[in-house]
Amino acid sequence: MNGECYFCHGIVSAPEEGHIWLREHDSHEVYMHEQCASGHNVIEEGQQSDGEILITCPECGEVETA
Ligand SMILES: [Zn+2]
Ligand SMILES: [Zn+2]
Repeated sequence: MNGECYFCHGIVSAPEEGHIWLREHDSHEVYMHEQCASGHNVIEEGQQSDGEILITCPECGEVETA
């Protein structure tokens, strides 16, 4: 799936590495580059050691793991 980055409007081609696609949100899908997201403080490192990250949806504020 391809979409436009929520922040920089560049192309996001999930599931490419560093590209984030928030799907299964009620009325919206959000695409973003990991780099742009971390620049806007919507990314947090998870507690697990497996590299999991937490992403806050900029549309609805729900927290997703990726
Ligand atoms: Zn971007
Ligand atoms: Zn959302």
